[in-house]
Amino acid sequence: MNISSVLQKEKLNKDDLIFLLGRIAPDELDQLYAAAYAVKKEWVGNVDYYRGLLEFSNRCIKNCCYCGIRRDNGEVERFDTAKEDILAMARWCYEQQYGSVTLQSGERQDAAFIDFVEAVLREIKQIAGGALGVTLCAGEQTKETYQRWYNAGAHRYLLRIESSNPDLYKTLHPQDGYHRWDVRKACLDSLAEIGYQVGTGVMIGLPGQTLEDLADDILFYKQQNIAMIGMGPYVVHHNTPLGKQVCEDGLDSPEARMERLRLSVNMVAVTRLFLKDVNIAATTAMQTLHPFGREMALKAGANILMPLVTLPQFRNQYQLYDNKPCLEDGQEQCRNCLSARVASVGDRVGWGQWGDSPHFFNHLK
Ligand code: SAM
Ligand code: SF4
Repeated sequence: MNISSVLQKEKLNKDDLIFLLGRIAPDELDQLYAAAYAVKKEWVGNVDYYRGLLEFSNRCIKNCCYCGIRRDNGEVERFDTAKEDILAMARWCYEQQYGSVTLQSGERQDAAFIDFVEAVLREIKQIAGGALGVTLCAGEQTKETYQRWYNAGAHRYLLRIESSNPDLYKTLHPQDGYHRWDVRKACLDSLAEIGYQVGTGVMIGLPGQTLEDLADDILFYKQQNIAMIGMGPYVVHHNTPLGKQVCEDGLDSPEARMERLRLSVNMVAVTRLFLKDVNIAATTAMQTLHPFGREMALKAGANILMPLVTLPQFRNQYQLYDNKPCLEDGQEQCRNCLSARVASVGDRVGWGQWGDSPHFFNHLK
């Protein structure tokens, strides 16, 4: 196979996806990223949208083996953000013309949590007559809960499948009956049935993950009719079972991290080439591995940025992985710094717009 001929193909098949994902030569990567950026420009424009990311609670009932806020990590001090503070930050996002806010948390399924999120959503929708878009990212819930939150004003929901390969998923989660791939997949189905714009994604560079797994992840996005994709490199957290194992096995060297970053940028590019009109995030984890990780993702086809608007006093306690960037930056700094990053790749910011995925509407036609 030769990269130029694959990039000229009208329709890519699974072998093409695997071939493109595996490119490492600098001249081939230049071609791949340039082709993906051209598709971005044609299908979603060289406009990048902001979602203010508000991590509002780190309490979690789950114990995912990779995650720094897993239930059994006793080093973490647990926090909840008061409703008034969430509303103040949502208002700030609106005033800064962010267009949308994303509310993210650990997973809880108790009635108090469900009621709290519902009440917050209702009040956010009152800000400026519902002008602020709301994305939720609060894990697995019953269909009834998803429906209640939808009725209260959330219209997009992010739930990463983590890997479309159920066997690989098993190696990343405790086998206790509470961490089930089929349940997570059923949640994605429920969200779509309710009418959410559904986002999903995977971690990239996981131990045991193959290029074929990653190609299957992209095919999974297509099969599930996913509108938004948030994916990024797996990054070690020192006090997690997976993080400890990866370090013991010598798989967290600087070279290994760069490999995970390149694979992540390749995933962005190949996903853009294959799916064309979806939203793809340039995630913070990319910047954790390289100061310009997010710019690389924008240049390879990503079009969504998520500036952190978590309250400064809680940022240290929401570390999913080590060396998370921007912990010290105020929300003003995040805004300005990201705008400079967008301009540096030749894009502009879609200020004050929801920036919905065109795919969501195109597939309804
Ligand atoms: N608790 C909800 C859930 O799991 O869907 C939402 C918040 S959770 C912290 C958001 C995402 O963080 C997860 O879907 C996972 O992909 C990502 N994440 C957690 N630990 C990570 C790590 N060590 N490296 C990269 N991403 C990680
Ligand atoms: Fe909890 Fe989400 Fe972390 Fe899993 S990934 S431990 S559900 S916060």
